[in-house]
Amino acid sequence: MHLVIGGARGSWPVTRPSAALYGGDTTSFLVSGAAGQRVLVDAGTGLANLTDRCPPSGDAPMMLLLTHFHYDHLMGLPAFAPIYDAGRRLTVASLEHGGWTAQRVITDLFRQPFWSVPLAHEGIRMDFVDLDSAGPALEVGAVRVRWTRTAHPGGSTAFRFDEPATGASLLVATDIEWAASTEAQREAFLSLARDPDPVRHLAMDAQYEDADLPARAGWGHSTWREAVAVAEALDGPRLTLVHHDPALDDEMLAAREQQVRSAFPYATLARQGEEIQIGEG
Ligand SMILES: [Zn+2]
Ligand SMILES: [Zn+2]
Repeated sequence: MHLVIGGARGSWPVTRPSAALYGGDTTSFLVSGAAGQRVLVDAGTGLANLTDRCPPSGDAPMMLLLTHFHYDHLMGLPAFAPIYDAGRRLTVASLEHGGWTAQRVITDLFRQPFWSVPLAHEGIRMDFVDLDSAGPALEVGAVRVRWTRTAHPGGSTAFRFDEPATGASLLVATDIEWAASTEAQREAFLSLARDPDPVRHLAMDAQYEDADLPARAGWGHSTWREAVAVAEALDGPRLTLVHHDPALDDEMLAAREQQVRSAFPYATLARQGEEIQIGEG
């Protein structure tokens, strides 16, 4: 299994050259299974960077999981060229958040005056799957996907991917505020991370430093120290930190990465365009 980072920036995209190394596009990932399965996670501006890795026209439908509906996780969808190819079908799967389903949100996103091409356009073939908080799991070929709701304004979702054939496992937890999580939310998160066995790789929101928290409590994000503490509680999976603060340039993120690695050697900060091998397959 591989994790490809289309974009790892949080909150809003940045284009300045001083942020080019870690990248300025907002959250979008591709999880690819050993047998060629492809699952996109979130549709930030980084989604366009994954276009060439999506199945070609006429092939199997593409699957897009949405963690939640904040702009930074959705604004890349209207600009994602494959959806205008009538030979391709995109299946969007998500929990509902605050009574909003993905279908309702995306229909509105493509509605005038916000966008020029409506979702009902004959060239767009998009369908929707409403996930249930309690499951059942989603099977994408030989990759099994499970999830839990996380603490975030309006709610978000952590997705776990398991590939039994290779033993690879990955938990993607962007947009989670660990400090604001209830005991029940923490238990549900940790149990997803431990069942059926300790997850091998954790990609987690680490937008903040400890010093940011007093002014940013309730904004929906974790600190890198919290992400490291979660990884330690999980018996040390490899850790990829995501949702980088848009205020931080490469130099500051590189300094943070060094600090993180001295606390937890199996951690890196996600870089746009990076392809990370998960397990052996
Ligand atoms: Zn976000
Ligand atoms: Zn969010």
